[in-house]
Amino acid sequence: MCISIISPDSCRQEREYIYNLVFSRFLGLEYVIDFSPTDDVRIVINELEISSPDIFLSQANENWLDKKSMSFEATPVYFSTEELLDTNSIPAWFYSTDALNTGKSSIPVYEQTNNLIDIKFDLFGSIFFLISRYEEAVCTSLDEYDRFPVIESLLYQNQLYLRPLVNEYLSILSKILTIQNTNLKLKQHNFGQVISCDIDWLFFPPVKSKTDILKFIAAQAFRNKSLLNPINNTLDILKSRIFGYRYDPYNTFELLLRRAEETGSELVFYLMSGDTDSKMDGNYSLSDKRFIEVVSQLAKCDNVSFGLHGSFDSYQSGPEIRRQKRALDNFFTKHNIDCSVKHYRQHYLRWNGLTTPDAITNAGLVHDSTLSFAETSGFRSSFCHEYPLYDLIGRRTLPVFETPLIVMDGSLLQPKYLGINSNTEAQDYIWSMKNQCIKYGGKFTLLWHNSSLLSELEKELFLGATKLSP
Ligand SMILES: [Zn+2]
Repeated sequence: MCISIISPDSCRQEREYIYNLVFSRFLGLEYVIDFSPTDDVRIVINELEISSPDIFLSQANENWLDKKSMSFEATPVYFSTEELLDTNSIPAWFYSTDALNTGKSSIPVYEQTNNLIDIKFDLFGSIFFLISRYEEAVCTSLDEYDRFPVIESLLYQNQLYLRPLVNEYLSILSKILTIQNTNLKLKQHNFGQVISCDIDWLFFPPVKSKTDILKFIAAQAFRNKSLLNPINNTLDILKSRIFGYRYDPYNTFELLLRRAEETGSELVFYLMSGDTDSKMDGNYSLSDKRFIEVVSQLAKCDNVSFGLHGSFDSYQSGPEIRRQKRALDNFFTKHNIDCSVKHYRQHYLRWNGLTTPDAITNAGLVHDSTLSFAETSGFRSSFCHEYPLYDLIGRRTLPVFETPLIVMDGSLLQPKYLGINSNTEAQDYIWSMKNQCIKYGGKFTLLWHNSSLLSELEKELFLGATKLSP
């Protein structure tokens, strides 16, 4: 059975991108598009017709990437979804104003008259807006690392960054299609977990004096509320100086491997092969003996794959990322490791919505997993499934697929971010996101650095975050 989409004629590339994502990639349905001068999007399946107003794209078309295209209410309207989702209501920024004039205390997300279903908000424009990160491309405020700050996001301002809204929108459409007995077979999605580790610091930094040791013990004792663990770590540091890397506190790869095996998770290591800022980049090179040994050992394990961890200043440069990819590819060839680099994550999660997707594409990479909010973690593109990136300047679908990063250890632990120091509190926070990924059959991608498994709290948190049920 084929679906017809009668679609407004403006922003053709953006509409083709979003129809492909919704119908083909997510729902697994065939469709044809009929572009015509219409004010709404209409989906026709046999006798059934589903319509949704066209608000965002028709407005943005006039002022593409201009601040004027963001002139709408920052507070969304909540539509009642009781019959469709187990959340009572769903927020939307783009809707027809008629929808608000019903006089009812709650606005139903859709109304049905015979075979006509009228969705009250702009379903496709809303998905495009969220998943393309359009607001970031228009925003000029940046944080100390030139990143889009979470506080500038409509998701954060409305406390919606822990909800995968695109999944919720898609769920509404799926439920409507299911309850209308369309006999359509919708694609099923199964939950999966990815444990990823960015190797920034391969080994514990050289200890130059007793003061360094005392500072380390004090910091660890403060975090652990105990002296035992920091003293053991300190002994390991000293032992590693005498007996080698296997005692180094940052050599936690065995725990990462074991946990991935126990939980049936994919395990991805992102490796640095370039140095564009000696203060911010990692502390090893491709010729480091310890690095060669670690990667050679990891490569022998099932379920392990490798990606490039782009250096601090590479995030806007296709040629620089390409150079680093080539260096890592050459490293694998030289050491007889069967891997060609396709996966990418940017160091410090630096990302410019206008330039980074294009740079990654030009470097010849195929998968990225950078998008999360460093300060809080959460659903930066409001989605927990893989999707193709969109180039907002070139206005085209890119051949790079984003697997959104959902939780990063640093967001939870670093004092400048959430600075959580209770296991219970951190687990509640992690599981508020992970449960959503499970519910929607999405992918829960966790970033845990090998250098964040020193204290008992860090280990407890990691084990709790990687469990398969709460
Ligand atoms: Zn990094």
